[in-house]
Amino acid sequence: MVKRMIVKIDEDKCTGCGQCVSPCAEGAIQIIDGKAKVVSEDLCDGMGFCIGVCPEGAISIEERQTVEFNAEKAEAQPKSTDVSIKCFSCGAGEDERYLLPIRHKMESLWVCTRCLPQLIHG
Ligand code: SF4
Repeated sequence: MVKRMIVKIDEDKCTGCGQCVSPCAEGAIQIIDGKAKVVSEDLCDGMGFCIGVCPEGAISIEERQTVEFNAEKAEAQPKSTDVSIKCFSCGAGEDERYLLPIRHKMESLWVCTRCLPQLIHG
């Protein structure tokens, strides 16, 4: 056991929408019985990419005692491929451009790298 940063999911806030599953590069999150769950704590590296995509604010990062992150196991974990993720501005999917999660006015959105400069500079 080690003390490290790891994802915490508030099941009371989670609606089971599934938006956090595909963005997890380690395949650590799955929807089980209608709620998002970290299926195995050694799959979560605690980087928190999933935090920004949750529309309910159900995901946070906490520091606590848990198992070490297992990079080899995470690499071998099947990944979800959600083709519904698109840039909110131009509609490009991740097969066309790099997509980034952003937050604006309490909304979780995806934006592609081509549209991002316009958001920043107006
Ligand atoms: S994005 Fe948030 S609300 Fe949706 S399944 Fe994941 S934790 Fe639950």
